[in-house]
Amino acid sequence: MRTNGITDTNIGWFEFAICRGKLDLFFPKVAERPERRVKREAEATKLCRQCPVSAECREYGRNNHEYGVWGGETEIQRHEAGFDLPAIIGVRKRETLKKSL
Ligand code: SF4
Repeated sequence: MRTNGITDTNIGWFEFAICRGKLDLFFPKVAERPERRVKREAEATKLCRQCPVSAECREYGRNNHEYGVWGGETEIQRHEAGFDLPAIIGVRKRETLKKSL
């Protein structure tokens, strides 16, 4: 299976995803502005709340340390829940700002 970067063959639940064809909403574009990101993620998570495979999707995003919105959870929320990402830009920026204060 290949769906916009998703190559794992063990994610049959994605057949029931209501975001199919709308994946640009779930991943940031290069140099996305913070205001645009907040709006995009709000739209994406709104869609996730209506999705029948939200739990499976969230678990996949957590276990595979994915970027973007998975199962109604942003990468920052996943990071804060203990499912770290190797280079999460928003968290790095906030931690740098905290140290400079
Ligand atoms: S929970 Fe959200 S990201 Fe996951 S498949 Fe459903 S709509 Fe897509």
